[in-house]
Amino acid sequence: MNRRADAVVVGAGLAGSIAACRLAQAGAEVLLVAAGEGSMGLAPAWLDVLGRMSGPVSSPLAGMQSLPDSHPYARMGSGVVQEAVEFFSSLVSSLDYRGGLEDNMALPTSLGGRHLCAMAPPAMAAGNLDRAGSVAIVGIGAMRDFSACLVAQNLSAGGALSAQGVTVDFAGAGADLGNLDVARRIQEPKLRAQLGAEVLACIGGAERVGFPAVLGLGAHQEVVGDLERILGREVFEIATVPPSVPGLRLSSALAVLRRTLGVKEVIGARVTGFVPGPGGVGGLRVRAASRSQIYEADYFVIASGGVLGGGIEVGHQARSETILGLQIPEGPLGSLGVAVDNSLRPLGPSGDPVFQNVAFAGATVGGADPIGELSSQGICVATGYLAAEVVKAEVAKVARAK
Ligand SMILES: Cc1cc2nc3c(=O)[nH]c(=O)nc-3n(C[C@H](O)[C@H](O)[C@H](O)COP(=O)(O)OP(=O)(O)OC[C@H]3O[C@@H](n4cnc5c(N)ncnc54)[C@H](O)[C@@H]3O)c2cc1C
Repeated sequence: MNRRADAVVVGAGLAGSIAACRLAQAGAEVLLVAAGEGSMGLAPAWLDVLGRMSGPVSSPLAGMQSLPDSHPYARMGSGVVQEAVEFFSSLVSSLDYRGGLEDNMALPTSLGGRHLCAMAPPAMAAGNLDRAGSVAIVGIGAMRDFSACLVAQNLSAGGALSAQGVTVDFAGAGADLGNLDVARRIQEPKLRAQLGAEVLACIGGAERVGFPAVLGLGAHQEVVGDLERILGREVFEIATVPPSVPGLRLSSALAVLRRTLGVKEVIGARVTGFVPGPGGVGGLRVRAASRSQIYEADYFVIASGGVLGGGIEVGHQARSETILGLQIPEGPLGSLGVAVDNSLRPLGPSGDPVFQNVAFAGATVGGADPIGELSSQGICVATGYLAAEVVKAEVAKVARAK
């Protein structure tokens, strides 16, 4: 039997989650279908909106005014981007994001670089390198892929900041732990008290203390609070290589919100194509556990990720979008995406919308260079929000006509 909803959202990443939550909050019946959980657990959870154009961007809001007309932010206007970011912030209010679109902050990367982003959870925002004062960077001996000395050396290189690197034992010599192992173990009060005492003994007069971003999963606030109490100074988190613990915190907060708002979900199911209908698409063919079903709706949001997420396939000769089979205009790999109009409807080669009842969102949308311009999460939030606004208006029209 076919399943039916007001809107079907494809993708459980940041873009799909924002679209689904916004639609459900407006009272639409939403069915979210996704092959997997999305890639939030790979990204640092900071909200980079616009960090680089021809050089570093100090204000995303000001920078947006000089983007080309085909850029998703220029299509929707900076006012909508701002609304979207405010929506994100209030949606995940439990994570208490700091910052805004007026000024970027400079957050440390896992190699001691500076990453310009608009917003971040409090423990990351506390690492803003534009703030004065000395910092200590703490490495955890048992943890792979994080060198406190390298981070400190690179942060100090410009001379603007004084950083010292220290490495402490945790979980015993010889242990070989990944980010998630440390994040779980540090939730044990006794272990983090030992860690705090060890760190206190070697950080001298540093004013802030940076740890790799492994300060707890569910008990994150308690972990940060305890370490700040033991150390008597502000503690911050530094993005790590994947898996990203802050990314997983964001991903689980959004998964809970989707369920609380009444989004119906089928995770672990792949959309393999579509059936035509009024507006262009009548339903999506979904394959799960060796069974195929059609999911019907009046409107569809496709947030299936870019080249990395599985939404765009790159072959020797051509590039195509994987669900509706749309051809992708040529361009550098990082910028490949579906050409859309101002309502995020996909455009054909003639420049006209090819489907009236479909909006694209997230990394599947073309016209930007998310990695180059440091705009990945901003584009997900803004297009996810706009896609929901477009679909919301159409769902309301259908309801009035009934
Ligand atoms: C490998 C990888 C590494 C990354 N590293 C970083 C990083 O270091 N820093 C950073 O800022 N960002 C990173 N990102 C995030 C990325 O840059 C984008 O910001 C983000 O992935 C875009 O989110 P999205 O919601 O558009 O799609 P995604 O989060 O990719 O989600 C796509 C969703 O669509 C689903 N899907 C795809 N095809 C189908 C289908 N046919 N049927 C059903 N469901 C489908 C997927 O299962 C998933 O749920 C990384 C992403 C990936 C994939």
